[in-house]
Amino acid sequence: IPFSPSPDRYNEIPFRPCGESGLQLPAIALGLWHNFGDDRPFQTQRDIVRRAFDLGVFHFDLANNYGPPAGSAEENFGRILQKDLLPFRHELILSTKAGWNMWEGPHGFGGSRKYLLTSLDESLKRLGTDHVDIFYHHRPDPDTPVEESMLALHHAVTSGRALYAGISSYSAEATKEAAAIMRDLGTPLVIHQPSYSMLNRWIEEGSPSLLEAAADEGMGVIGFSALAQGLLTEKYLDGVPEDSRLASGKVSRKFFTDEVLGHVRALTDIADGRGQTLAQMAIAWVLRDQGRASLTTALIGASSVGQLEDSVKAVENLDFTDEELAAIDEHAVE
Ligand code: NDP
Repeated sequence: IPFSPSPDRYNEIPFRPCGESGLQLPAIALGLWHNFGDDRPFQTQRDIVRRAFDLGVFHFDLANNYGPPAGSAEENFGRILQKDLLPFRHELILSTKAGWNMWEGPHGFGGSRKYLLTSLDESLKRLGTDHVDIFYHHRPDPDTPVEESMLALHHAVTSGRALYAGISSYSAEATKEAAAIMRDLGTPLVIHQPSYSMLNRWIEEGSPSLLEAAADEGMGVIGFSALAQGLLTEKYLDGVPEDSRLASGKVSRKFFTDEVLGHVRALTDIADGRGQTLAQMAIAWVLRDQGRASLTTALIGASSVGQLEDSVKAVENLDFTDEELAAIDEHAVE
């Protein structure tokens, strides 16, 4: 039976303009870093992606190296595209990236033109699509002139392989430099993808902070790991579930101390008072109103349909009182 998504899907989750561009992104996007490699049942992956689209999550975030093995998340998403989502390809915002280690040799990582454009071509093959909507440089590369990496992003767009360009994990200063180069080239950087959660607030720090720098440059911001890879949920309150990311060794146990768990319990109580699960509050918190420095999107992961459904309900309450914010700060500052 062909996949038939809910006709109400665009009424479920708000979408927001991505900086000053015409691109609009759902407030919640799904990332395929973990949970979509060949180590996971394909049918579960397919169920999660279909349900996401059904719920108005029309933005799916990938990278060349997502798996394991590297490349398999793009291949698996490509299969789901073929089976279910191809009739809706024009509605989807697909992103991919290059920057971290992908293949042997000096052009299998970093920021060279050789690496970025070759990798993008390989990603398109794995995804089975002729373009992605956003192509990112995945991380700053101190060994490549930023001009070269930006020229590669510009070429990715002008050659039709990508519709928009973005950067990930660049500092505020490096962001301003990259944005100026791209503006001169005529392909504005429209989006920045940094990590951000109640436990990880580096993008708020400094002057200008990354959030301010991105706003100054007219860029949207999509923050990743709002749940701190699962730590900011209730899943570890009664021990470490066997099927969890912590049990599989994909996230370090060094964050999993009694002290942290005490804070997670306290945060769960605050969430409870708001009528939310901790996961929902953690997502709502990154999406809260910060004026011009507000995020465009929270980029989350999910290992089951149930988690996804729980997490997207975050949008039902994005408002925080000053008292709630202060209480959160007591328990969730590094
Ligand atoms: P999250 O912080 O959202 O962690 C996701 C994990 O949290 C899930 O795998 C699951 O853990 C757990 N979880 C999710 N929802 C719930 C819920 N409702 N209740 C309980 N537990 C829940 O984000 P990720 O670290 O997965 O990152 C999200 C995306 O961000 C990535 O897929 C990728 O697209 C992007 N990213 C980008 C990076 C970059 O350098 N640009 C780096 C890292 C991520 P479990 O698996 O244990 O069930």
